[in-house]
This record gives sequence, C-alpha cells and structure tokens, in this order.
Amino acid sequence: MKIQAAVARESGKLVYEILDLDTPRDNEILVRVVATGICHTDLSAITQLLPARLPMVPGHEGAGIVAAVGAGVTKVAPGDHVVLTYDYCDDCRACRDHDHTYCHHAVERCFLGDRPDGSSTLHDAKNEIVHGSFFGQSSLATYALCYDRNVIKVRKDAPLELLGPLACGIQTGAGAVFNALGVTEQTDFAVFGAGAVGLSAVMAAHVAGAPTIIAVDISEERLEMARDFGATHVFNSRTGDPVAFIQSVTEGGVLRSLDTSGVPTVMQQALAATAPRGSCGWLAGVDPALEVPINPTFLLAGRSVKGIIEGESHDAQAFISKLVDLYMEGRFPFDKICQFYEIDQLEQALADSKSGATIKPIIRFHAQN
Ligand SMILES: [Zn+2]
Ligand SMILES: [Zn+2]
Repeated sequence: MKIQAAVARESGKLVYEILDLDTPRDNEILVRVVATGICHTDLSAITQLLPARLPMVPGHEGAGIVAAVGAGVTKVAPGDHVVLTYDYCDDCRACRDHDHTYCHHAVERCFLGDRPDGSSTLHDAKNEIVHGSFFGQSSLATYALCYDRNVIKVRKDAPLELLGPLACGIQTGAGAVFNALGVTEQTDFAVFGAGAVGLSAVMAAHVAGAPTIIAVDISEERLEMARDFGATHVFNSRTGDPVAFIQSVTEGGVLRSLDTSGVPTVMQQALAATAPRGSCGWLAGVDPALEVPINPTFLLAGRSVKGIIEGESHDAQAFISKLVDLYMEGRFPFDKICQFYEIDQLEQALADSKSGATIKPIIRFHAQN
C-alpha cells in the first residue's frame, strides 16, 4: 500500500515521500499511525551515529490503531489501540531468559532496517529499497508494519495520540527507576539531566515513594518541572558542585543515582554522588569509542555501575500498561512534557527537539477516530 513516510536519504535530513509498504506477512501487524514521539535515538540514527543505513524511515515511539494482521497473529485484532515499542529476536540467550531489552541481536532488530530474512518492508517510487523496520516499526509514517512482540495493546479510554513516548523515552526513565535500580521508600535517588528521560525518572521515583529525590540540570525551567513532578531538591550545576550538594542533603550520598546525559563528567558525578552500597545507572547512547574512568577503590564500598537499556522493560506489555494506568490515575503526568506537532511541522519538531525548546515532541499522523 502507499504510505507517507519521513525518509532520511542524507545524514540528518528528513523529507516526506510516498513509499510502498508491504502487506503484513503471517507474523506482522499493520498499524495506522495516530502519532509518534521523537526521541534522540531517531536523531542519532539519521546522522548514523548509530549503525543505521540510509535511506531509512526512523520513528520508534509510535501509537496507532491496528488496521490488519497476518494469519498467525493472535495478540491483537483490527481496531485495537496499540503502542509500538522496541523489537528483539525472541531466540537468543537473553530473549530465552525473557530479558528482551538485552537481546543479543538488538542492533539488527532495531537499527539495521530490514526483516530477519533480510528483506525490506519499504520501497520507493523507483522500487528501490528504503530501510524500514526501525525498532520493528519505522513509525514516522502514516502506517507501520510491526510484530506481535513489539505491539503493546492499550486501554481505549486513554488518549492514544499521547501514548507513543511511553514506548521508549518515558519507559527508559521510569523503567530505570522501577525495574533496573529498584527505587523504593527505602532508597533516596538522584537523577542527572532533566529531559524526557530524567523527568520521567523523577515521576517514577515519586510514585515509588523515594523519600529524597534530587534532580540536577543546568536549566532552571526544567528543574522547576522536576519539583512539580516530586523532586524534593533540585540543583543547578552551573552554580556549583552537584556531588557536594547531594552529599550535604543526604547521609554522604544517595543509594540510587542515574545519569541521563551521556556526558562523561556528568556520568562520573552520578557515580560519585552514591553512598556506600549505592548503585548508579548509565543509560545514554554515546559514541561507542567513549571511555569513562572509574576508581576501583571507590567501588569497593559495595557500589556498582549498571548499564540500562529501555528501562529493562522486558515485559513491555505489562510495564507500558502500568504506566498508562498510572497516567490515567493522575499519578504519572508525562503529558506535561509532551508537545504536539502536525504532520507538516516535522522540521520544526526536530529543530525544537535539538534546541531543547520542546522536551518531547509528538507528530500527529491521523486523527484518533
Ligand atoms: Zn534476542
Ligand atoms: Zn528512543
């Protein structure tokens, strides 16, 4: 079928084209995309900082309505509301252990842009291949082809056009807190970086009941938002040393900390802000050649650093459903960091994402009804 999709042919540039999307195979699901969030991983893919291949269609925070399913699909049916998340192979050692975010074939399944058999779901007007299947979806488009493993059925009373970002950016921050770091009423928590991921982490830590929640950033506006979402302390690192501040308001540091920035000095600060027995999470996608020094003597006091992908949302159906429920109960107000753009405002949305003017842009493709 003909679809309209944002295609990257040159590094960093997206232009809409009319493409041909395959009809769903046995295990595939065709989704009429209602709206798709933009995440920094899209920008890293189209500039090929990540191992993506051009031409490609990005988009991995899609939400929409099932339009058609292959003969072997039982999880969803046409008309179901769905959120589209990361893909995985379902066959490697990590997948067999149900640790899907750590799939050994995550690069192939999420970045390289073809099906497991090497075919592409998308072709252009000259019948040349365009790489689709980005995160098993390529949802910066009017329609997307997905799999039952990465399609998340959601309740129909929730505002579908808002829900796409739960599938990556928001789940990354909230999942780091709930799943990977295990923040509870017993653990204080500090987050470095108050973007979409960091603010989601603050909201989650508040839901988890962490007694002290500290947000560190260089934007007063974002620190103010962090306060609104439950941060008990905020610190602008332009004004001094965040580690000294955190040590001064806790018993020598926090038990759980998280870096969302991917900036080496900040990653080191996040670790340095932990108390003995503390755990620090690093989750940003960075230059693969980057190395960050760690002092082993500092780690000896029971400290650890953990790498985290997609907030360890291994059972994404359960985890995203939980976030939708929390939102509907008014306990997880992630809508306050989202801003909608119409289909023809893509360039503006990308510019606002890069500049930080918008924390989480969402592009609308179809009306919900
Ligand atoms: Zn796997
Ligand atoms: Zn993402």
